[in-house]
Amino acid sequence: MSGDAMSTTALQHFVLGEWVDGGADGQPYVDAVTGEQLGTTSSVGIDMGAIVDYARTVGNPAVSSLTFHERGTILRNVGKLLLDDAVKAPLYELSTRTGATSKDSWIDIDGGAGVLLTYASKARKELPNSTIMVDGAYEPLSRDDSFGAVHVRTSRSGVAVQINAYNFAVWGMLEKFAPSFLAGLPSIVKPAPQTAFLAQAAVRVIVDSGLLPDGALQLICGGPGDLLDHLDGQDSVAFTGSAATGAIVKSHPNLIAKSVHVTTEADSINSAVLTPSAAPGTAEFDLFVAEIVSEMTTKAGQKCTAIRRGFVPEAHLDAAGTAIVEALGSVIVGNPSTQGVTMGALVDGSQKQRVLDAIGELSTAAAVVSTGAHIDDLPKGAFVAPTLLAATDRHADVIHSVEAFGPVATLIPYADISEAIDLVGRGEGSLVASLYGSDVGEIAELARGIASHHGRVLVVDETMAAASTGHGSPLPMLTHGGPGRAGGGEELGGMRSVFSHMQRTAIQGSPAMLTAIGGEYITGTPTTDKGHPFKLNFDELAVGDSLTTESRVVTDEDIAHFAEFTGDTFYAHMDEEAAARSPIFGGIVAHGYLVLSFAAGLFVDPPEGPVLANYGIDRCRFATPTRPGDEVHVVLTCKRKTQLDGRGYGEVAWDTKVINQNGEVAAVYDVLTMVANAPGINGAA
Ligand code: NAP
Repeated sequence: MSGDAMSTTALQHFVLGEWVDGGADGQPYVDAVTGEQLGTTSSVGIDMGAIVDYARTVGNPAVSSLTFHERGTILRNVGKLLLDDAVKAPLYELSTRTGATSKDSWIDIDGGAGVLLTYASKARKELPNSTIMVDGAYEPLSRDDSFGAVHVRTSRSGVAVQINAYNFAVWGMLEKFAPSFLAGLPSIVKPAPQTAFLAQAAVRVIVDSGLLPDGALQLICGGPGDLLDHLDGQDSVAFTGSAATGAIVKSHPNLIAKSVHVTTEADSINSAVLTPSAAPGTAEFDLFVAEIVSEMTTKAGQKCTAIRRGFVPEAHLDAAGTAIVEALGSVIVGNPSTQGVTMGALVDGSQKQRVLDAIGELSTAAAVVSTGAHIDDLPKGAFVAPTLLAATDRHADVIHSVEAFGPVATLIPYADISEAIDLVGRGEGSLVASLYGSDVGEIAELARGIASHHGRVLVVDETMAAASTGHGSPLPMLTHGGPGRAGGGEELGGMRSVFSHMQRTAIQGSPAMLTAIGGEYITGTPTTDKGHPFKLNFDELAVGDSLTTESRVVTDEDIAHFAEFTGDTFYAHMDEEAAARSPIFGGIVAHGYLVLSFAAGLFVDPPEGPVLANYGIDRCRFATPTRPGDEVHVVLTCKRKTQLDGRGYGEVAWDTKVINQNGEVAAVYDVLTMVANAPGINGAA
């Protein structure tokens, strides 16, 4: 079956590899601007068990059998597709019907594509080109090095279920999809009914492109039905929405019984704090004012990260209120497709009513300072004017607990920093707080005081303001989530969220077995001598291929020459008496870098060959001092290979040990090189 985004009454689902019509008597969704009903969503008649089974049996093998780099390449291609103007234009058009301005749509659509591109890039840089990754260092468990352990991460055999809130239909979907796909899991996406039509359009673009493997992404446009009853311990659930719904999901009996991994991102009463010394007239005061206005009006305040509470030193409350009201005066609320409109509508009439109710509740402890701004004459649209309140009772619970999920913020005075920290904490856990000031003492005290209540803290001062990504923008490389009321979950944060979808397993055994399992050489594993390994191209080279070099005596003259030549005349290399007094050296020692240089002289293969470059060293330690007269040799072993797609070469890390005449390790490190593929392979000439 097929159809386009708006052609059926009930939105279609994409399940079991095809588009399937939505059920009857679904929940209506509307155009936020006109109030016109656009269609319905219903998952009645959808077999949730079959969808989960399809994800496990078709999607999971297809995704988890790809290497991290292959998954990253797919994410990159999907991200680029979504940024294509021809693809974006219809999505932007639909986004307008959710009440979004084009700036709001940019955050949602381009921002979502940006998350894919960031994860794609990180996959190539931070993950091996493999389906398994070694996590951390080898742990020796016996004195004779015959027994040890490594931790590995592997893909689970299940599915990632993603239940999304209505406000960022595209970004909210892709910020969950990217890390779970990279972790090797297929996704079942359940968007919120109000904006499922936009999520569906984005899924249609992605699915139609054929870029994803079968079963990697399924979409349910309607209620979750008994979806959660079909999950088990290999699956994960990522929920975004209100704290109340989050609590229902978290306490779902089957999720508890099967220990299903659940992440919740819930609502949060986020804060911005103007520091005591950021008085009117300072750059930071102006930045605070601008950020409050931007957070109130972007996406009409329907952002989980939006500033709900603005903390201001008592003395500056009136000035801050006046400045914000003045800035709000230039906001034009209305149909987002009308030229000049700077703030759109809430998603629908029910949301408008919820926001008006929340303003009513807040007004029991705060006075409305302004409801300025011009509103378009669209009576059925879900428009609410930006509303600034000022707390009359800063300790009232309502101020710190009611989320008006719209263009609403409350200014709250505080007496001193310790009171500010206390009041911020009354939000009981938030996604983000931002601090405005240039006094490092004040900022450090505040940041340290509130950090435990937040997933992210943004410190704003004049020096970084132009480059700042802003209070309300979660970034793919930084943790998004917060403790307590914010849901207690963590998403994004670069590889942190990828790893949260994977199983970490401690594998114990002999070094040889651990090398075979993890794919990374561990000391003690028998090595292979194929001649000089620098003569082997990437494809001939195997983990464990090794070279033991000739030896070389390090002389007094070598050390003196190196000192003079480089200018490194540190006493331990030059002054016999001072070196003798050193509790570490007890006499003249060679420079560590001299030892490394001699090692390179021992292990390089001079003629032009497959080794293209040495791009660094990792984990270098000078384990035993090298003294004049010591005779050192090098054992160099291929530790890890990472093919770089299409470049004609791959990265090879070499376990390198410089060993002295007593068998002691003088230096240990990984040499990092680029090694050419065999001609014709992976793009090699
Ligand atoms: P919501 O009403 O809690 O709904 C969120 C999602 O949960 C929807 O897809 C909803 O779909 C689904 N749902 C409802 N009941 C369910 C149940 N019993 N089992 C499984 N799923 C269920 O939230 P919303 O109104 O869409 O979004 C607004 C809220 O989300 C705000 O409070 C905002 O702060 C929060 N939010 C948080 C973040 C964050 O990252 N922390 C981001 C965005 C929004 P159905 O109605 O079809 O069931």
